[in-house]
Amino acid sequence: ALTALIKKWVPPSLHHNQPQKKKTYSMEAVRAAITNRELINYYQPKVVVATGEVAGVETLVRWQHSDDGLVTPDQFIAVAEAHDLINDLTCLVLTNALAQARVWHQAGLMFRVAVNVSMDNLTSLDFQDLVVNLVTQAGVPPQKVVLEVTESQLMGDTRIPLEILTRLRLKRFRLSIDDFGTGHSSLAQLRDIPFDELKIDQSFVHRAWADETLRAMYDASLALARQLNMEVVAEGVQDQDDWKLVRETGCNLAQGYFISGPLLADDFLDWMKDWQK
Ligand code: C2E
Ligand code: CA
Ligand code: CA
Ligand code: CA
Repeated sequence: ALTALIKKWVPPSLHHNQPQKKKTYSMEAVRAAITNRELINYYQPKVVVATGEVAGVETLVRWQHSDDGLVTPDQFIAVAEAHDLINDLTCLVLTNALAQARVWHQAGLMFRVAVNVSMDNLTSLDFQDLVVNLVTQAGVPPQKVVLEVTESQLMGDTRIPLEILTRLRLKRFRLSIDDFGTGHSSLAQLRDIPFDELKIDQSFVHRAWADETLRAMYDASLALARQLNMEVVAEGVQDQDDWKLVRETGCNLAQGYFISGPLLADDFLDWMKDWQK
């Protein structure tokens, strides 16, 4: 079943409606995309390595652009961050993700749903209220909501962001540190924020079985997460050998093209049927 899946799944870069060239969009265009709800959520599974069971999904936003096709987040997130649109964007993505979580939960699929949060979301305590209100309105337990924060953004004066994250943690949201190994968060920050999950960046996972340096970083990240009682996610599991490595090292969760790329919610259940075969 696995090999069939790998053949079937086409990397996003090969999709025909993918824009040929990366471009940067204007603030006005990105604002209109948010207002007109042209941003749609894709979901990538996070699976339990030991059992293959689906633990949750990560929400990855795309812009369904009328001329340019499916635009990836690297072409508009930074624009939203620079022009004070990121709260509206995160709010839209989270609202849609919570509505989807509710559908899955009502169908008995108790997935966790992860949403990427930008450091620019974490500048005011209002963000905490916003998130709490959305989750309450949607009727999704906060334990099922994971907030992923990229490690490289955790630098400079992080007092307010850390305060907001800590408050959300007290409200039972799950916190995840993303792209671990590529930033320079201090060990003190890891000590001070109660992260539940650590995601080893894909650059230390894919082909780590073939490269001693990568392997050392992968092992060190895994050991640190374990010592701190965090769940570990290996990102960028792209082939059979990567999958073998995460199994043999006892990593908790895995994510990557070998398992599945990001999917529309409508395709998710079909994928699950194949995966669990
Ligand atoms: P990320 O959070 O680290 O997400 C993982 C990225 O790696 C995604 O790219 C995903 O499609 C891709 N990926 C998944 N599996 C594999 C694999 O096996 N190999 C490789 N090479 N790549 C894989 P995507 O969707 O283009 O997103 C890029 C980044 O944009 C994300 O990185 C995240 O930082 C940001 N992003 C995505 N959605 C949102 C959002 O709603 N809000 C914010 N603030 N940022 C977002
Ligand atoms: Ca992420
Ligand atoms: Ca990541
Ligand atoms: Ca990333």
